[in-house]
Amino acid sequence: MTDADVTVVPRGTIRMDRNFQLEAHTIARRSDPNPDLEFVASPIYNLVIDHPEGTVLWDTGAHPAAGEGHWPSGLFDAYPVEDPDEHALEDDLERVGYAVGDVDYVVQTHLHMDHAGGLERFAGTDTPVFVHEEELKYAYLSATTDEGSAGYVLEDFHHDLNWRLVHRERETPLEDLELLHLPGHTPGMLGTMLHLDDAGTLLFTSDLADVAANYRKEWPMGPGLLWNRQAWLDSVRTAKELERRHDAEVVYGHDHDQFEGMLEGWP
Ligand SMILES: [Zn+2]
Repeated sequence: MTDADVTVVPRGTIRMDRNFQLEAHTIARRSDPNPDLEFVASPIYNLVIDHPEGTVLWDTGAHPAAGEGHWPSGLFDAYPVEDPDEHALEDDLERVGYAVGDVDYVVQTHLHMDHAGGLERFAGTDTPVFVHEEELKYAYLSATTDEGSAGYVLEDFHHDLNWRLVHRERETPLEDLELLHLPGHTPGMLGTMLHLDDAGTLLFTSDLADVAANYRKEWPMGPGLLWNRQAWLDSVRTAKELERRHDAEVVYGHDHDQFEGMLEGWP
C-alpha cells in the first residue's frame, strides 16, 4: 500500500456512434426496420497520481488541433472531440493545480488518438514515458502502412521521447503501481493497478472497457475498437480475477455514468 493521491483531469468530450462502444447495440428488425442511431458523448480524462516516488501523468488526451487537420478528417468525423482547442494538456492540468513541468513519469495506456495527443509536451525531455512494446510497434505499423488500425496519428507519438518499454505481462515502475498487459482493444493495452493506503486497490482499465457493460456483461466494443476479440475477452477475465483478489474498484475508459462520481479523485 502506498500513500498516493489520484486527481482526475477532465480532458473534454468525444462523440461516436453507440455501436462502436457496444457491438450491435442498435440493429434493424422487422418490427423496427429503421431504428435511430445514437451519437453518444463520452468523457476523455487523464489522471495525475501524486506518488511518494514522483508525479505520474496517466495518458495525455486528444491533441488540441484534432479538428484542424492534426487528425485525418475522416477520423475526426467519426470521433469528433468537442472544442479540443480548449483542452490543451497544459490548460487542463492547470485547472486541477498541476503544470506539465511537475510530471516526473508518463504512463500511456495505449497510443490511440484520444489518449496520446499530449505526448508532444514531453518531446526532448528526460521524462520517462511508459508504453508496452507491442503498442509502440503496432502504433507505428498502423500510422505508417495500410495495415493495423486507423486510430493512431503518427504526429502524436513520433517524437524524441524517453520511451520506457514494458515488455511482458506486468511491471511495477513505482511501488504499488502495477502496469498490466491487457491486450484486445489494442495489442499493447496497459491496465493500471494502484494499491492505496486509504482508498484500497484501484484498477484503471483504460479502453479494455469503454463503458461498464463491456466489462460487467462482457459485451464487446464494436468492430474497429477490438484488435483481437479473444484476447480482449481473456483480458477482461484477467482483470476480473484481479478485481476479486484485491477487492478492487474498477474504473473504465470512457464511461459517462461513472465519470461524475470520479471527479473527487482518490482517496
Ligand atoms: Zn482506445
